[in-house]
Amino acid sequence: MSDTVEKVIIIGSGPAGHTAAIYAARAELSPLMFEGFMAGGVAAGGQLTTTTEVENYPGFPKGITGPELMDQMKEQSIHHGTRIITETVESVDLNSTPKKVFVGSGDKAQTYLAETVIIATGATAKRLHIKGEDVLWQKGISACAVCDGALPMFREQPLVVIGGGDSACEEASYLAKFGSTVHMLVRRDELRASKAMQKRVFNNEKIKIHWNTNALEAVGSEPNAFGQSFLEAVKVKNNKTGEESSIEAKGLFYAIGHTPNTAFLDGQLPVDDAGYVVAEPGTTATSISGCLHAEM
Ligand code: NDP
Repeated sequence: MSDTVEKVIIIGSGPAGHTAAIYAARAELSPLMFEGFMAGGVAAGGQLTTTTEVENYPGFPKGITGPELMDQMKEQSIHHGTRIITETVESVDLNSTPKKVFVGSGDKAQTYLAETVIIATGATAKRLHIKGEDVLWQKGISACAVCDGALPMFREQPLVVIGGGDSACEEASYLAKFGSTVHMLVRRDELRASKAMQKRVFNNEKIKIHWNTNALEAVGSEPNAFGQSFLEAVKVKNNKTGEESSIEAKGLFYAIGHTPNTAFLDGQLPVDDAGYVVAEPGTTATSISGCLHAEM
């Protein structure tokens, strides 16, 4: 363990983390950021690295891709003096003085000390854990249409997206560029998505919405010579009529919301029902002095 006590350690490298970094660096606090190494299965830069065009971020009149936007935020943080380490924080001790941040495990375990810790770890895409999902994960099933949707295996093939929010609509629209048909499985009889995103989906003739429909099982092909099976169909059930059916699909993409990345806090900060850290209203202050929560 180094004796150096950092003024500010920032955990997380999404827009909230980089905003905190830019402000802290400009305030000459020389922040140290842990950007995570595929933390929660997502690259450094967070969930925006898994999206295509970002059209509603001010300053980019023609839009910018999520990865490009995050590269620019990182560059801006470094430019102002943020130091960035590509490691995932395993745990923290927020009640000690100084606070402790534990990184890595075994021989590679390291402890960093800080006066102030900013939590900016965001959230991770949820999975459904239906039958067949584990075996077929990355063999047709993905939580990131933007990362995987353009792969040759999905070209001109029937695809399925689960969810009715903005992400589901965005992913279905994106996948419609590559697939033959995109089936959206929506568990209610309406979309949660914004009207603008709904319109995009309704106007796309390649997208077919299955209302009141839940996925039951991901069905794979017979194993090939290497013992690998690939997605062939999704078994679904209409939750109004109880009718079960099968949709042929080479790709299945989850867009059913997110789980906050707060497990590493191990209960040291109060969280809400969904697991997000609770800060004092209108501020980033948490119940522990010197521990702030940044989110966008
Ligand atoms: P949301 O939580 O908004 O939507 C999740 C969707 O998944 C809902 O339709 C929900 O159904 C459905 N769902 C949840 N659990 C299940 C389940 N077990 N089985 C089936 N369906 C399920 O998440 P998003 O990721 O879509 O969006 C998160 C935030 O990001 C939102 O604020 C959104 O506006 C924003 N966003 C904005 C974009 C843009 O403006 N370009 C793009 C993407 C996201 P139900 O409605 O029944 O709860």
